Amino acid sequence: MQFIGDIYAAKRLLKRPVISLEFFPPKTDEGDKALLEKHIPALMQTRPDFCSVTYGAGGSTREKTLMIVDRIQREHKLTALAHLTCVNHTREQVGELLRKIKDIGCKNILALRGDPPPGSEFQMTPGGFEYSSQLVKFIREQKDFGIGVAGFPEGHVACQEGKLADWQHLKEKVAAGADFVITQLFFDNADYFEFRDHLTTKLGVNVPLVPGVIAIVSAAGIRKFTQLCGAKIPPALGARLDAIGADDAAAAEFGIEYATQQCDALLKAGAPGLHFYTLNKAASTVRVLKNLGLA
Ligand SMILES: Cc1cc2nc3c(=O)[nH]c(=O)nc-3n(C[C@H](O)[C@H](O)[C@H](O)COP(=O)(O)OP(=O)(O)OC[C@H]3O[C@@H](n4cnc5c(N)ncnc54)[C@H](O)[C@@H]3O)c2cc1C
Repeated sequence: MQFIGDIYAAKRLLKRPVISLEFFPPKTDEGDKALLEKHIPALMQTRPDFCSVTYGAGGSTREKTLMIVDRIQREHKLTALAHLTCVNHTREQVGELLRKIKDIGCKNILALRGDPPPGSEFQMTPGGFEYSSQLVKFIREQKDFGIGVAGFPEGHVACQEGKLADWQHLKEKVAAGADFVITQLFFDNADYFEFRDHLTTKLGVNVPLVPGVIAIVSAAGIRKFTQLCGAKIPPALGARLDAIGADDAAAAEFGIEYATQQCDALLKAGAPGLHFYTLNKAASTVRVLKNLGLA
């Protein structure tokens, strides 16, 4: 398995984008089976560069993150990125998790603060971490991992001081030892370009800033999700979604078309890769990658 920073460096030399796919641990055994035996194998045919698996706010899905990471690495011989958050963890517990991550041969961690349960504010666990930059520093001190962090082209939803202050905090995460940044999803590429240009030219950040993208599959679903994560739906996109309404088949077709155009423009403007929020389904992401000639 490789360090993900090395994957970006190698592909950069080849002038090829790095394609990564994100999954979340399902809540049920049927969901596990569908993900592991159907959707991940279907997506593997597109030959991604690495996959990532999210880490839940608590409960049983947390344990599944490493199970899925392990299976991706063993069954598909593909590098995986384990997400890890500060929520409900002391430093000792994080140290124990790092040992487990190392033991299954996973070399890469996406270090995050983590989302609090809906409607509440993040509470630091006594003996834990307040910000992800502290988690990054801790991981760097403990073991030899490749480390990624989250970036927010529209600014993080909880950063009262605005996006420039949030981007300054992102610079601190990179300074603490992150090798690459994966962004929150966004629909207006101008937001990503402003974010990238500010970080690289004004703040001197020179690690890959990788756009996170999604192919919409439901108008109501994407409205709910963007509300939670604080991403905006541009007016023209909102009007199309209103016209599509509850017709999910039409939403998925439109989502593939929109994501294809968005990704094409990002790559033409020099994005180092594309990180797909797959929603644990193969069909739309496979079609977008095929449209781009990247499958
Ligand atoms: C690619 C990606 C993957 C994700 N995967 C998961 C996942 O698997 N599980 C999950 O629960 N969530 C996940 N999230 C969501 C993420 O955990 C939340 O958005 C969370 O609220 C912020 O995480 P962070 O790591 O950016 O936090 P931080 O970097 O700690 O930032 C949190 C807030 O604190 C501010 N801040 C940072 N440092 C300072 C400082 N020194 N002083 C004052 N303010 C500061 C920031 O501006 C921001 O507003 C993911 C997000 C992305 C983009």
